[in-house]
Amino acid sequence: MTYGFKVVEEMKRGLSQWMDDKGYTSTADFVGKAVPNVTDWQYLNLNYVSKARIDQDACIKCGRCFAACEDTSHQAIWMKPGRVFEVNDAECVACNLCVDVCPVEDCITMERMAPGTVDPRTGKTVSSDYANWTTHPNNPMAVKAAE
Ligand code: SF4
Ligand code: SF4
Repeated sequence: MTYGFKVVEEMKRGLSQWMDDKGYTSTADFVGKAVPNVTDWQYLNLNYVSKARIDQDACIKCGRCFAACEDTSHQAIWMKPGRVFEVNDAECVACNLCVDVCPVEDCITMERMAPGTVDPRTGKTVSSDYANWTTHPNNPMAVKAAE
């Protein structure tokens, strides 16, 4: 069996198991379901702040999250003695990269910061208001509120 064939078989098995878990019997059952989640980046809520969280009981200490964040993101994961990996909230920008590379499902999750708490990265209080780039003060093309 060629390697490419094995990969495809693995993908089919994974899709089949996911469909069983969700109760889907046909791919037509979920075609287009993600579309409502797609939006232009400028409408993303800038006040939605989250941080990566590592479940120490689930972690197998492989270090992939550390390498990924260290080399391609914000150097926001500490490797402590005993290969204990912890997120430094003062650096984490919630890019999700560590979640993508972690081989253990749900070992790393993104946790939203509650409004009213202070983001240690920016020093600013997290607001519950929705705000996006179209009205951001740093945007020279910002839409001005009606006077
Ligand atoms: S979400 Fe991004 S910045 Fe935060 S710990 Fe993971 S890889 Fe690093
Ligand atoms: S990638 Fe996941 S399993 Fe590996 S060290 Fe990081 S948190 Fe642990």
